[in-house]
Amino acid sequence: MSLFDLFSAHLSADEIVRDDDKISALLLDRRERYQSRADIVLSPISTQSVQNIMRICSAHKIPVVPIGGNTGLCGGATIDGGVLLSLDKFNQINPVNTADRCITVGSGCLLYQVQQAAKDAGLFFPLSLASEGSCQIGGNIAANAGGINVLRYGTMRDLVLGLEVVLPNGELISQLSPLHKNTAGLDLKHLFIGSEGTLGVITAATLKLFPPPQEMTTLWADCVSIEECINLLNILQKHSLGTLKSFELISHTALMISAQDLHIKPPTNAKWHILCEWEQTHASDRLPETLLQHGFEHILIAQNVSQRQQWWRLRENISAAQKRRGVSIKHDIAVPICALADFVARCEKNIQAAFSNAEIVLFGHLGDGSLHYNIFLPDYANNTAYQFENQINSIVYQAVLQHSGTIAAEHGVGVLKKHWVAKMRSSAELALMKAVKQHLDPLNIMNPNKVYP
Ligand SMILES: Cc1cc2nc3c(=O)[nH]c(=O)nc-3n(C[C@H](O)[C@H](O)[C@H](O)COP(=O)(O)OP(=O)(O)OC[C@H]3O[C@@H](n4cnc5c(N)ncnc54)[C@H](O)[C@@H]3O)c2cc1C
Repeated sequence: MSLFDLFSAHLSADEIVRDDDKISALLLDRRERYQSRADIVLSPISTQSVQNIMRICSAHKIPVVPIGGNTGLCGGATIDGGVLLSLDKFNQINPVNTADRCITVGSGCLLYQVQQAAKDAGLFFPLSLASEGSCQIGGNIAANAGGINVLRYGTMRDLVLGLEVVLPNGELISQLSPLHKNTAGLDLKHLFIGSEGTLGVITAATLKLFPPPQEMTTLWADCVSIEECINLLNILQKHSLGTLKSFELISHTALMISAQDLHIKPPTNAKWHILCEWEQTHASDRLPETLLQHGFEHILIAQNVSQRQQWWRLRENISAAQKRRGVSIKHDIAVPICALADFVARCEKNIQAAFSNAEIVLFGHLGDGSLHYNIFLPDYANNTAYQFENQINSIVYQAVLQHSGTIAAEHGVGVLKKHWVAKMRSSAELALMKAVKQHLDPLNIMNPNKVYP
């Protein structure tokens, strides 16, 4: 029996994807790095259908890869035969629960739709990424996404109250609870958050909402060194009384790549730039003055909405501008903030020693210690940089590990960084991770060959 016959006996006709354009888009990853091959692409419309699919896949040992918005950058939703499971029809948004400040949504909702639903109810959902127009809530949970507001609100893990998950054997775990506290046993949702589709299919989630922030002050600062950037962060943290929301680092190279791509004149010219934002309150209104008193003279405050938007466009366009420019070797890392300056100096020295003409594009969420550390070699217009990828990765990741950092801060592991996980985790941790995987997915059908080294 063909897979088509097998699934069509249990699913409605529109749950089997036949649109070639849609299939092609799902089979090529965002960076156009991995070309997948699926035996069938399914797009179920109900949790019951997902359960049916998983039961069939279990019975026939068919691999299943869940896919959301396909914006992940480490090949997490790639597939080599089996069922590619698109969650795009899980796009229902329930009314906001204002008393418990939460919202229950299908895992296929786009992130920006959830932000908008919260806004319409006079509340705020703080997860914010440059890919928010295309990534899905299920993908955000599976990758434990971060973004620009982690400093104040935490990662996706901190924003999930409850989950509905279909396990590899088709069983359903449904805990779409608005409870903010529950210590009755292990909090199992945390197993699935950040598990990159390897333990089950997330079908719905209950998410925390917050009061909307007051008006923002947006600051652009020039700094001569990473130490100065961290000093600025410390002063803002101390004097903003918890209202600092974002603190983004942009190197000169990153700024120029984005500015040229957008045909926008960069606001200033320095080695390092900080773009940060805090909520306007009586206390925080004095922050610009406090910064001047601490010797920060090269600061600009956005004077209107369009200036603020232009600065954020420069920041958020960096990834897309790099992609349009050509091939770079990318790293999504985090290092304790106290070790960042030393890490940046040492890593740059080691890269330059091995590749004297390498261009380092550094930017990211300095406020929580996570950075995008990307390397362009001179022939970036073609793919030859990939032949040096292992060597470059070794240099960057060794420096990350020497500084007690992580090789995967917010994009996950996928296939790209799988082999480095073993260097990051103790043998006891690896054994426990594999035991969890083995218990939930003994047939190894859920997103196989990802994450676990
Ligand atoms: C321009 C750009 C900027 C970005 N900026 C950031 C950023 O600032 N912070 C950040 O954290 N990330 C960022 N990302 C990466 C990416 O957008 C996030 O990782 C996002 O959370 C992935 O969501 P997705 O729906 O696209 O997931 P996909 O790419 O489709 O999948 C990602 C992983 O989740 C699994 N998965 C997807 N849906 C489900 C489900 N319903 N159930 C179980 N498993 C599932 C997949 O199998 C895969 O392993 C950026 C990406 C781009 C292109």
